[in-house]
Amino acid sequence: MTEFTATLFDGKRSAAHPVRVRQQGGAIYVYTQDETDPVRMDPLANCQITPPLGQTRRAIYLPDGARLETGNQEAVAQLDHLNRHSRGMQWVHGLESRWKLVLCSLATLVFCVWIFIAYGIPFLAEKAAESVPAAVMETVSDRALDRFESRLLTPTELPEAQIAELRAHFREIARRSGDDQQLRLLVYKAPQIGANAFALPSGKILVTDDLIRLAENKQELSGVFVHEIAHVRQRHGLRTVFQNAGVFFVISALVGDVASITSTAAALPTMLVQRGYSREFERQADTAAGKYLIQNRDSTRTYRRMLKRLSEKSPAGAAPSMMATHPAVKVRIRQLKQLEKK
Ligand SMILES: [Zn+2]
Repeated sequence: MTEFTATLFDGKRSAAHPVRVRQQGGAIYVYTQDETDPVRMDPLANCQITPPLGQTRRAIYLPDGARLETGNQEAVAQLDHLNRHSRGMQWVHGLESRWKLVLCSLATLVFCVWIFIAYGIPFLAEKAAESVPAAVMETVSDRALDRFESRLLTPTELPEAQIAELRAHFREIARRSGDDQQLRLLVYKAPQIGANAFALPSGKILVTDDLIRLAENKQELSGVFVHEIAHVRQRHGLRTVFQNAGVFFVISALVGDVASITSTAAALPTMLVQRGYSREFERQADTAAGKYLIQNRDSTRTYRRMLKRLSEKSPAGAAPSMMATHPAVKVRIRQLKQLEKK
C-alpha cells in the first residue's frame, strides 16, 4: 500500500483540489482531505503515468481525463512499477483467455517450422554443399571407400576386356553429359549388396559385378551411369548429410535435449523428412538419366527395362540397394514415360 498527497484536476475546469491518494491492490483511491470515503476509485492498469523528468512533478492521468499531480517521486515510481506489472499481466491473461489466438499462434509456429524444414533446410544444405572444397570431398569419399572396401567389396571377377569396354562407355557418357574429369567408374565383386550402384561425392561411381551381369548389354547400363553421375554433379550425398544435420538441429531446438527423449520419437521425423528428401533426389537423378537417353537414344526404354529387372532381382529387405531407398519402380517408370511424351 502506498499513500501520498496530490493535486486533482478534474480535466474540465482549471480548479485544483488538494487530495490524498492511496494505492491498494490493483486500484487507486482518491480522498478529499477530511473524508474517510474515497471520492473516486480507478483501476491502476487504466491510468497513464508520465515518465520521470528530473525533479518535476509527475502526473497520473485517470481514465476519464482527470489528472493527479504530485511531487512525491518515490510514490509515483512505485505506482509506475505496479502499473507496468499489471499491464503485462493483463496482456498475458488476455492471451490466455483468447484460446483461438493461442491456437492460431501454435499453428503458425508449426507451419513456419514445416516450411523451414521443407524448403529452408534443403536450400541451406545446397548452398553449404556447393561451398565444400574438392579436397574435402576427396578425403570424405576416400574414407567412405576404405570402409566399403574393408567390409563389402572385393576385386571384380569380370573379364578385363569387358571392364575396359565399360570404362570407355562410361567415359563417353560422362563426356556427352558435360565432360567431367573427376568422374571414375570402379567395379567390384560385392555379393552382400547384390546388383547395386552408388556414387561418392568425389565422383567415384561404384558398380557391382552383379549389376553388370544383370544388364543384357552396355546400353542398358547407360541410364544407371547417368543417374549416378547426376547424384555426383548435384552433390546429393553431401546435401543429404547437411539436411539430416539441419533437421536434427531444428528438432532438438524444439523438443529440448534430444538425448533425454526416446530415440524412436527423435528419429521418426528425421526419417520421414529424409525419405522425402531422398525421393526428391532420386527423381532428379532419374530425370537427368531420362533426358540424356531421350537426347542420345530417342527413348528411355533401355533404362526402364533395367529398372524393372533390378526390382525383380533385388531381394526385399536386403542391404541398402539401388532399389531400397528409391521410390517404387512403377512410379519411376511412369515418370520416365511422361518425360518421353514431353
Ligand atoms: Zn539414386
